[in-house]
Amino acid sequence: MLSSMATPGPRNATPTLHGSDEARRIHAECPALDLHTDSFLWTRLLRYDVNARHTPPLPASALFGHVDVPRALEGGLGGAFFGLVALPWLDRSCRRAIDDTIGLIERTVSASDGKLRLARSAEDLEAARRDGVVAAMLGVEGAHSLEGDVDALAPLARRGVRYLGLLHFTANPCGAPMMGWGQDSGQGLTNFGRDVVTKCEDEGILVDLAHINERGLFDACEQATKPMILSHAGLAGVFDSWRNTSDAQLRAVADTGGVAGVIFCPRYLGRDGVEAVVDHLLHIVNVAGEDVAALGSDWDGFIVPTRGLDEASKLPLLTDALLARKVPERTIRKILRENTLRVLRDAPPRTP
Ligand SMILES: [Zn+2]
Repeated sequence: MLSSMATPGPRNATPTLHGSDEARRIHAECPALDLHTDSFLWTRLLRYDVNARHTPPLPASALFGHVDVPRALEGGLGGAFFGLVALPWLDRSCRRAIDDTIGLIERTVSASDGKLRLARSAEDLEAARRDGVVAAMLGVEGAHSLEGDVDALAPLARRGVRYLGLLHFTANPCGAPMMGWGQDSGQGLTNFGRDVVTKCEDEGILVDLAHINERGLFDACEQATKPMILSHAGLAGVFDSWRNTSDAQLRAVADTGGVAGVIFCPRYLGRDGVEAVVDHLLHIVNVAGEDVAALGSDWDGFIVPTRGLDEASKLPLLTDALLARKVPERTIRKILRENTLRVLRDAPPRTP
């Protein structure tokens, strides 16, 4: 039973509610969706119990322990794409690591007393909102997990996987990463990568371009017939970093009807604090329009999150910061939830 699993670090049963009444109202009506959270990597590696409330910082420093179901509910986080991550230097079989993680998520959902629910479609997300529960969506981070077999996608789609990130930190048969092993090859999207994009679109799996190199991103967007997503990124127009996306890349993703989620990591935001996240979100709005900006925290993803947004219960503080910048509520709702919802609606799952 997952509920009886050891969880590292202290727990605290006392919730703290963050944010103004207005921010909390917006989250209650329009619970946020996060395009990238890696909590279940820690379930797989360290038996982190996503159903239990934790009080950071945990012993492994601030690198994880940012998200669990109680704090998601407190923070008006209505759902997240949980990253399915295989580590090629650790996992003997990447496909097996992905399968195991899906199994862990399914068991966590079963042990959640209905508070965490698997979701595939926009309709699932709306049902989760009405019922006041947290939606868990599945996104694979890195096509190395396919182990060179495009037919590995269909069984993943049947198990509920809704996006595939083409690259992570190592070159794989699809192409080359923006940083990591094989980064300097200049390789764009390979023929295999093109087949993967086509197969993803057939199977109702969104293609995620986080971590892919520049040429690969443009190649994929050129081929796209469905929206492409950038699940967790910073914007080079605000802060120039190897990890960040140029305005041209952002527009290419926007032209597919896609969304880009802003990462909550000060290393890529360029400075610490909630305001830094706001700067990157508003840059997306200015460059690509209000239908493109979304959240992609990368919580629990080996990052030290920005001050003020270091755990899920603090999400309303981001909404307060947007309100303070006079961002209209209509735009805030798009950023928090509706843009991600639209993409899931425009590229529905093949298996309902
Ligand atoms: Zn990542």
